[in-house]
Amino acid sequence: MNNPEPSCTDIYEPGLISVKDALSQILSDVPVIQGYERLNIEKARGRTLYEPVIAAFNVPPHTNSAVDGYALRSSDLPAQGECTLVIGGHAFAGRPYTGEIRPGQCLRIMTGASVPEGLDIVVMQEHVMLKDNSILIDARHKAGQNIRKAGEDIQQGHIVLQPGKYLTPPDIGLIASLGIAEINVARKLKVAIASTGNEIFSLGATPSAGGIYDSNRYSLLAALDKPDIDVINLGILEDEPASLLKSFNEISDYADVIISTGGVSVGEADYTKAALQESGQIEFWKVAIKPGRPLAFGTIGNAAFFGLPGNPVAVMVTFYQFVLPALEKMSGINNKPSAPVFLAKAAHDLRKKPGRTEVLRGIIEQDDSLFWSVKTTGQQGSGILSSMSLANAFIILDHESSNIKAGEWVKVQPFSGLF
Ligand code: AMP
Ligand code: MG
Repeated sequence: MNNPEPSCTDIYEPGLISVKDALSQILSDVPVIQGYERLNIEKARGRTLYEPVIAAFNVPPHTNSAVDGYALRSSDLPAQGECTLVIGGHAFAGRPYTGEIRPGQCLRIMTGASVPEGLDIVVMQEHVMLKDNSILIDARHKAGQNIRKAGEDIQQGHIVLQPGKYLTPPDIGLIASLGIAEINVARKLKVAIASTGNEIFSLGATPSAGGIYDSNRYSLLAALDKPDIDVINLGILEDEPASLLKSFNEISDYADVIISTGGVSVGEADYTKAALQESGQIEFWKVAIKPGRPLAFGTIGNAAFFGLPGNPVAVMVTFYQFVLPALEKMSGINNKPSAPVFLAKAAHDLRKKPGRTEVLRGIIEQDDSLFWSVKTTGQQGSGILSSMSLANAFIILDHESSNIKAGEWVKVQPFSGLF
């Protein structure tokens, strides 16, 4: 940490940490939070399951028909030609037939209706000829056809969902199919956010000369607007060491995570860095990433701390590349599919220096043969938030790669998998 302060042109300097190493240290350091709450499943989408969901019974609970038609014994099917079976009863979904269907008879049956024991095939109504109270049926049918067996979706006693499952719409339906109305989910993660910088003004205030509106807190508020997160908005903190540290220490008694923006780079009048250095538990990294190179990470009291850079695009990039994966680990999520990264063809040349990851803002498009191409949104400065707003994907140029020629493949990560 005593390395000479880096300059942006020198990327082989000592003390630079790769994106991969930074992320793996973050993920190994942050804890999984303990504690749960009981929720009605209607409110559980986007939460993390805290207990296994076990099937108390088979789903479907009874063997039933997959079509509208006629249930019968396969032994009554003709070996060739056709035969006639008398309709012995009617079964509807939710209204099973309780009488007896004798050999030589069939049961008129609707989709979802229970198939009585002994009948082992359902023939679609389109495949028979109905004549008075009988059907004329041919030889092309097979035993087991059009029957949904009890337990074919889920067997009684089976663990249907494991703790740590990030709950999606089909999960909620699956839980409902087991008759379960309430489940235990991990409690919400409490995330405090703050902006620092004497030039930063709240909405509603009139910025003084050289002042600008606080945008970072609002992009973060929106990025953190998720079912499993409670945000504590600390506002803009005064750039004064003792008072900064006091605010962070106080909130660390309550919050699981503290995220600040600004004041972690070098050679400026901000005190965030000085204050945090004093607390002793925080590392100041020079991450080999553009944008987002200065990044502070550590703990304040019991809270994980992320000191993101001040530049608005760097905030978004570091949030999605480092903070979001950490929040997902802390929530106990263990099998949410991660945001997809796939290859797209560069629509034009891209400049790239080897020795750092570069995250550009891109627009991905699919052509008529469904191939993806990507172009940048133009100016890529880390203060140009409109570049992020115009984009629909990050372009991720790996640590080692150098200049990219038009037509080469590059990694892209669509925002729709992240936001
Ligand atoms: P810093 O990392 O504090 O040196 O900030 C880098 C740049 O980001 C400066 O131009 C700041 O004015 C700008 N910046 C810092 N915080 C914010 C914020 N909350 N909203 C918008 N811009 C910011
Ligand atoms: Mg600042």
